[in-house]
Amino acid sequence: MPTSETTPREPLVPRLRGLGTSIFAEMSALALETGSINLGQGFPDVDGPDVIKQAVVDAIWAGRNQYPPGMGVPELRHAIADHQRRFYGIELDADTEVLVTAGATEAVAAAMLAMVDTGDEVIALEPYYDSYAATIAMARGVRVPVTLHAPDFALDVAALRAAVTERTRVILLNTPHNPTGAVLSRADLAAIAQVAVEHDLVVISDEVYEHLTFDGAVHVPIATLPGMADRTVTISSAGKTFSFTGWKVGWVTGSPELVTAVRTTKQFLTYVSAGPFQYAIAEALALPQHVYTDLRDRLQAQRDLLCAGLAELGLEVYVPRGTYFVTTDVRPLGWDDGLAFCRELPARCGVVAIPHQVFYDNTAVGRPLVRWAFCKQPDVLGDALARLREGRLAR
Ligand code: PMP
Ligand code: GLN
Repeated sequence: MPTSETTPREPLVPRLRGLGTSIFAEMSALALETGSINLGQGFPDVDGPDVIKQAVVDAIWAGRNQYPPGMGVPELRHAIADHQRRFYGIELDADTEVLVTAGATEAVAAAMLAMVDTGDEVIALEPYYDSYAATIAMARGVRVPVTLHAPDFALDVAALRAAVTERTRVILLNTPHNPTGAVLSRADLAAIAQVAVEHDLVVISDEVYEHLTFDGAVHVPIATLPGMADRTVTISSAGKTFSFTGWKVGWVTGSPELVTAVRTTKQFLTYVSAGPFQYAIAEALALPQHVYTDLRDRLQAQRDLLCAGLAELGLEVYVPRGTYFVTTDVRPLGWDDGLAFCRELPARCGVVAIPHQVFYDNTAVGRPLVRWAFCKQPDVLGDALARLREGRLAR
């Protein structure tokens, strides 16, 4: 019989105990504590356009402050459908094929909970974004990694084929890819599509960095490939495209059957997310091309600045073709463990970065790799590089 002296039982269920605290929260807290420059968690240090901010304020004063519809406000659903047509030629019915979510994070969670049952296998590209492992575990699914290897982190199609079993249900993609910055080629996507069609699999495709590609790299949504429109759940978010990561406006597009399945779980996670932001992002999506390309061009210049600086410091740099992030190998500086490197870096140099190994099942592959965010102003990147030069970077 429990008494007042009995220790309460561990409240977290066993399958989620390994999740701990997200590496982004841990490293951002460390940056604050130590006064370090935060090149860890991926958020820009300059907000997106003022007209988009004004649109939120206007929506609040226009009285758009009660629950939006469960699928998202019609203005935003139509704007998302228009965006998919404008950039990719994808035709969508804004009433049945578009669902607004609380960021891409909720979209991923809702899709997993909707489509993965106990013991179902989910093939995910490794290194994977941290919420993938967590939501697969919440759905009681089994994560099956297909590892992307340096220097180019290209897809190993044979490894993908070998990963498919009787229990495979979903292929979870992310392109442009966090943390490696790889952009899957049309040929890779065609190979994935072929596997999905052959084995009757659903592809969940996280495309939050769709507009952040460099050196002319082209983002191809896998939903545009033959046979894929009806078996792809496409996910994106306004956070990265417009530099408002704190607004958490995301979306899911796909066939009515797939979108309905995701809506079924989503409605009991948040029901809906903040209405005024939805109206503002509806306006943002319709802005002219230069709004999309200006950010990309600025980011490309910041990427070049950070990559050149890190290479000068002696790190092996894998120049990314998309996203906010560059991956390096820290072994040339005498380190063999990126996690130890990242934990010591604030004290040694006053800079924070993210270790890759927490994004792997095959941790040995990710052990020497470290991710740095370049979505920061050039002078901030310059200061960070100066700190790295002046601090004790080498082991
Ligand atoms: N997927 C990937 C690959 C990400 O890097 C992130 C982080 N921004 C998300 C999903 C989450 O997006 P959101 O902030 O819209 O939830
Ligand atoms: N997507 C961001 C990154 O990869 C982190 C977002 C978060 O903290 N969940 O840095």
